[in-house]
Amino acid sequence: MGGTNGKIAIVIVAFALAGGIWYWTSRPEPAPELKDPTLVDLICEACGEHSQDSPEHLLTVLIKGGVRTPTEGGGMTRHQAVERPVYPCPKCNEPTAVMARYCQTHQKYYPAQLAEGGAGKCPDCP
Ligand SMILES: [Zn+2]
Ligand SMILES: [Zn+2]
Repeated sequence: MGGTNGKIAIVIVAFALAGGIWYWTSRPEPAPELKDPTLVDLICEACGEHSQDSPEHLLTVLIKGGVRTPTEGGGMTRHQAVERPVYPCPKCNEPTAVMARYCQTHQKYYPAQLAEGGAGKCPDCP
């Protein structure tokens, strides 16, 4: 009896894993323009410019001290309090470019991490 339940549990786990892999591999395609999967998407918080750069080059231009600590009592987890790297914006040259994510619905880039810590979200999504 217990053995049967164990087998069912394994099957459920296998299905859950397969589902997770399917979800991972079938994620919607990122923005069409400028899209190179080997490059990192950036968005400038000052001028809104979207740009892409290689991870290798970004490492060389990473601006130290552009990291803010999360506010206290904000319910931040350790993971969310991870430092947020900032880079120089290729358009306005301000040290305000951060890694970006793309919203399929509104077709716009937005900061992947908030300055206060935590994940960013599309400003137009509810
Ligand atoms: Zn800029
Ligand atoms: Zn959106």
